[in-house]
Amino acid sequence: MIDPFGRKVSYLRVSVTDRCDLRCVYCMAEDMTFLPKAEVLTLEELDRLCGAFIGMGVEKIRLTGGEPLVRKNVISLFRSLGSRIGAEGANGGLKELTVTTNGTQLVKMADDLFAAGVRRINVSLDTLDPAKFAAITRWGKIEPTLDGIFAAKAAGLQIKINSVALKDVNEHEYDHMLAWCGEHGLDLCLIETMPLGDISGDRTDQYLPLSVVRSRLRQNWTLEETDYSTGGPARYYTVKETGRRIGFITPMTHNFCESCNRVRLTCTGTLYMCLGQDDAADLRRPLRDPGVDDAALREAILEAISRKPKGHDFVIDRRRKAPAVARHMSVTGG
Ligand code: SAM
Ligand code: SF4
Repeated sequence: MIDPFGRKVSYLRVSVTDRCDLRCVYCMAEDMTFLPKAEVLTLEELDRLCGAFIGMGVEKIRLTGGEPLVRKNVISLFRSLGSRIGAEGANGGLKELTVTTNGTQLVKMADDLFAAGVRRINVSLDTLDPAKFAAITRWGKIEPTLDGIFAAKAAGLQIKINSVALKDVNEHEYDHMLAWCGEHGLDLCLIETMPLGDISGDRTDQYLPLSVVRSRLRQNWTLEETDYSTGGPARYYTVKETGRRIGFITPMTHNFCESCNRVRLTCTGTLYMCLGQDDAADLRRPLRDPGVDDAALREAILEAISRKPKGHDFVIDRRRKAPAVARHMSVTGG
């Protein structure tokens, strides 16, 4: 799949549910209305759609959400997709299956994820301070996430910690978090807040440019340039003192669209070709139409890829305080 700007689309992110057991302040409003079940694709439907994408050149799939691990029986989807890793041999096929999670279910699920073929996971953790964790997630307790991280490590999974940098909230914690990650053999990736969805608050209060965090970190740590890349928007450095990596995702201050290799599927079968644009394709209709075979489904996917835009244009609108894109990250899949 090649888009109109010559970029190869090889990475599919799938939001398997819009629901979550937490309510992070930058991600969701406190009082969210979730999708009715009938609109949400079954795990079998998601598996069939992912299979079509794999057949068309997708090499990496990330399950996300909402919180992917709270969806009932989601492990069956991991198992089915995991069984395709390497199945097409040298002809391509799925090479990596991964997940982004808040970690709360990892104590029970880490071994099963590893057995299903998952090797690397992202766990979101914005702070190591229990009180701040409770404030950021609106009601979460930090222990299940920390226990989950250690369970995942014990299961053999490689872990990258994702942390959204929030002005006046966790901005002065990163020396400590970097040391903690080094101690436990974890990579760290910092993310700027993006204006996605109404969150019942003021985003300009939350926004913190990562260039500020990076220069502060450089006072105590040696960040060595590296050409390591996961094909994504993060810019990575090796932390000389710990040997681990630190990444910075800066959608607000740096446009990373030129090398974009991904599209995003929601749990209702809507395909977004760009996180920061509204254009989308409905794949649920062809998927549920009994008259539509896999060939027609592939055609619908190709038609969508032909509309992949050149890039996003995030702006935190200071006057209107409105989000740049109306849907929440939990819908599109972060
Ligand atoms: N629930 C899982 C988790 O928290 O990792 C997966 C879904 S969550 C939407 C994926 C990632 O998006 C998380 O790392 C979260 O911090 C990030 N995220 C959510 N809303 C965001 C926003 N407005 N700006 C930047 N990152 C955001
Ligand atoms: Fe849930 Fe993840 Fe959004 Fe937090 S960032 S509310 S854990 S989906």
